[in-house]
Amino acid sequence: MTIKFKQRSVWDGFRRGLGGKCPDCGKGPLFTAYLKIAPSCPSCGHAVGEYHADDGPAYFTILIVGHLVVGPMLFLDFVRTWPVVWVWALLIPCIIGLSLFLLPRVKGAFVGVQWAVGDRSAA
Ligand SMILES: [Zn+2]
Repeated sequence: MTIKFKQRSVWDGFRRGLGGKCPDCGKGPLFTAYLKIAPSCPSCGHAVGEYHADDGPAYFTILIVGHLVVGPMLFLDFVRTWPVVWVWALLIPCIIGLSLFLLPRVKGAFVGVQWAVGDRSAA
């Protein structure tokens, strides 16, 4: 008996998920709300709701935002010369906005990679 597996591209899954599209067809929306994954793709019927990203997207979002915010802070003079309140007033909205922007994209990419490697329970 031979079991045949469908070859899936990690890059295709990553790219489609990053764009908020179904990793299987690339057409249907992956989310029904900000971070709520649809039970199935309305375009192809693939059960995208079976992929459980859990804390992975939050971890990677924190990792990305941390590098995007902390790295430049080491080189920018205003961080050392401005009053701390001004620096916080500038950075906190940037951190929150960037996190809210990236989280659904990272979650989509995470689900896309799960689709490619065939893992439906990443917990
Ligand atoms: Zn689909």
